[in-house]
Amino acid sequence: MPVPSSAFHRALFLLTQLADYTTLGLGGPAKTFVTAASEAELSAAVSAADAAGEPVLLLGGGSNLVIADDGFDGTVIHVVTRGLRFTDAGGPLTDVTAAAGEPWDDVVARCVDAGLAGLECLSGIPGSVGATPIQNVGAYGQEVAEVITRVRVIDRRTGTTLDIPNGSCRFSYRNSLFKSGEPGRYVVTDVTFRLRAEELSRPVRYAELAAELGVETGERAPVAKIRSGVLAVRGRKGMVLDPGDPDTRSAGSFFTNPVLSREQLAHVEAAADGPVPRFDAGPGLVKVPAAWLIEHAGFAKGHGAPGPARVSSKHTLALANAGGATTADLLALAREIVAGVRDAFGVTLTPEPTLIGVTL
Ligand SMILES: Cc1cc2nc3c(=O)[nH]c(=O)nc-3n(C[C@H](O)[C@H](O)[C@H](O)COP(=O)(O)OP(=O)(O)OC[C@H]3O[C@@H](n4cnc5c(N)ncnc54)[C@H](O)[C@@H]3O)c2cc1C
Repeated sequence: MPVPSSAFHRALFLLTQLADYTTLGLGGPAKTFVTAASEAELSAAVSAADAAGEPVLLLGGGSNLVIADDGFDGTVIHVVTRGLRFTDAGGPLTDVTAAAGEPWDDVVARCVDAGLAGLECLSGIPGSVGATPIQNVGAYGQEVAEVITRVRVIDRRTGTTLDIPNGSCRFSYRNSLFKSGEPGRYVVTDVTFRLRAEELSRPVRYAELAAELGVETGERAPVAKIRSGVLAVRGRKGMVLDPGDPDTRSAGSFFTNPVLSREQLAHVEAAADGPVPRFDAGPGLVKVPAAWLIEHAGFAKGHGAPGPARVSSKHTLALANAGGATTADLLALAREIVAGVRDAFGVTLTPEPTLIGVTL
């Protein structure tokens, strides 16, 4: 990129571009960018920004962030802390404590290699450990909420470090205390997962994964085989980061699967003129695949091409920066999809990534 000629634009150019730190490759400059490689550095960076009254953005792998083209007018703290500890928790149980900046999939791989079950279905999810409790990451029937025992945090309100036990994290589908309860209050420093030494994973719930593994839905398979099966299925959907594949220049699923009442489902089925796939989501509630709604509202894979922001050619739920897109382009595409699904089915889709400086 050529260096701009005006002093003002040169100053902006020298600021850290957040596009370099997000998997979408989007996001303007950070006013201040700090890297925290230890818990002490993380704590100091947060205290300094808070004392100066600066807005703070915690950044892990940038795989669940949509940041404005104008960037972030505050301090971005890139969390790259390291540390992984295995502690015997009695019998077949092991507590695995990982620092916030540990790359998530490396931790999953280490646990699977150690013969521990509980994280294998979460293989291939990009990003760092510290973000996993934020939206209670999940895939193929597993969620981190099922195995997290505690989340260690800095409470920015009091400046103290404390352990938040699982029961206080208010985990729900792609949500938690940290995401929508009290967003921004807590800085995750490490997370403890309680895993079980077991050869076989839990019964496989997803037909596509079962087919990949050559088992029936409901059958069990070895933990290591589940990991390789999940990676294979995810790879075909562009859900494993691959620098050579523009479909993976995304934030993963852009929308959550809407949870509907039975009455809302009846309305959607009337609009669809037929049955709609659904999963049980608690008493009187069903979860409907957002991908199904998007496809049946007329948005096919690749929608938006040859524009720079488009629906992934492999997965309807991922919106990708095919090259040269801006955040404004991506949001225009997202708004078009939200409006289309609302018109077709009366359901308003909710974005899954955290939006910084922008709204849908
Ligand atoms: C190809 C692809 C596939 C994906 N597949 C899945 C999937 O199957 N399931 C799923 O659930 N998600 C998925 N995601 C979304 C994403 O990978 C996860 O949400 C992941 O946990 C985000 O981690 P990160 O480190 O990149 O977080 P970031 O994007 O850096 O941050 C996400 C949020 O967490 C906050 N945060 C980050 N670190 C901390 C910290 N230490 N303390 C407090 N807050 C913090 C940020 O401020 C932000 O609000 C996918 C994304 C991509 C690109």
